[in-house]
Amino acid sequence: MQDPFGRTISYLRVSVTDRCDFRCNYCMAEDMTFLPKADVLSLEELDRLCSTFVRLGVRKLRLTGGEPLVRRGIMTLIDSLGRHLKTGALDELTLTTNGSQLDRYAEGLVAAGVRRINVSLDTLKPEKFTAITRWGKLEKVMSGLRAARAAGLQVKINAVALRGVNDDEFDDLIAWCGEQGFDLVLIEVMPMGEIGEAARLDQYLPLSMARAAIQRKWTLDETDYRTGGPARYYVVRETGRRLGFITPLTHNFCESCNRVRLTCTGTLYMCLGQNDAADLRAPLRQSESDATLEAAILEAIQRKPKGHDFVIDRRRAAPAVPRHMSVTGG
Ligand code: SAM
Ligand code: SF4
Repeated sequence: MQDPFGRTISYLRVSVTDRCDFRCNYCMAEDMTFLPKADVLSLEELDRLCSTFVRLGVRKLRLTGGEPLVRRGIMTLIDSLGRHLKTGALDELTLTTNGSQLDRYAEGLVAAGVRRINVSLDTLKPEKFTAITRWGKLEKVMSGLRAARAAGLQVKINAVALRGVNDDEFDDLIAWCGEQGFDLVLIEVMPMGEIGEAARLDQYLPLSMARAAIQRKWTLDETDYRTGGPARYYVVRETGRRLGFITPLTHNFCESCNRVRLTCTGTLYMCLGQNDAADLRAPLRQSESDATLEAAILEAIQRKPKGHDFVIDRRRAAPAVPRHMSVTGG
């Protein structure tokens, strides 16, 4: 699959549910209204959609959400998608999770062929963790991480950089990830979904500032390691682990974009930062043959925009993209 700008689309991120057992304050409002179950694709439909993308050339699948591991029966889907790893059609099956269910699922994930996961963790302090996630308990995530390590999963920690919240902890996070053998990625807050824009402006911390502070204590060696995504990676010389920075607001990473995103209702977003989308649920349900669905996917790829349009700006009242991150998945 090639888009009009010559980019090969080989990476699909799938939000398997919009629901979550946390309410991170930069991601969701406390009183979120979730989708009615009837609108959400069944696990069989998600499998059929993902498998169609694999047939069309997707080599990497990432399940996300909401929280992917709170979707009932999720292991049935993951086990089933694992068949594409066995045939060699897929290079990687992975997920982004808040870690709360990992002690139950880590071994099953490995059995299904998952080798690496991203776990979101913004702080190492239990009280702060509960303040950020509103409903989360740090100890539960820590026990999940222990289970992931014991099962042999490689872990990358994602931390959203929040001004005045966790910007005093970057050194601790780097040291802790070094001890645990985890890579770490710091993410700039993106203007997605209505959570109160005053709050968002307060939270925004440019990572150029964070990096300068980090470099006073740590030696960051340049590396050409790339995942095709927006992260810019360094190796922390003192720990030997990678440290990535995702800076959608201060950098342009769109030239190398290889991905599209699917929601749990079958809407395909060709760019995280644009509103144009294609409905794949109708063609999916319209016919048992995959021909209509394949045509709809190929047509959508031709509409992939050149780049995003994120701005956090005092003059702007509404978020640049009105949907929450939990809809399209991070
Ligand atoms: N629930 C899973 C988790 O937290 O990892 C997967 C979904 S979550 C939406 C994916 C990632 O998006 C998380 O790392 C989260 O911190 C990040 N995220 C959520 N809202 C964000 C925002 N407004 N700006 C930047 N990152 C955000
Ligand atoms: Fe849930 Fe992940 Fe959003 Fe936090 S960031 S509320 S864990 S979906």
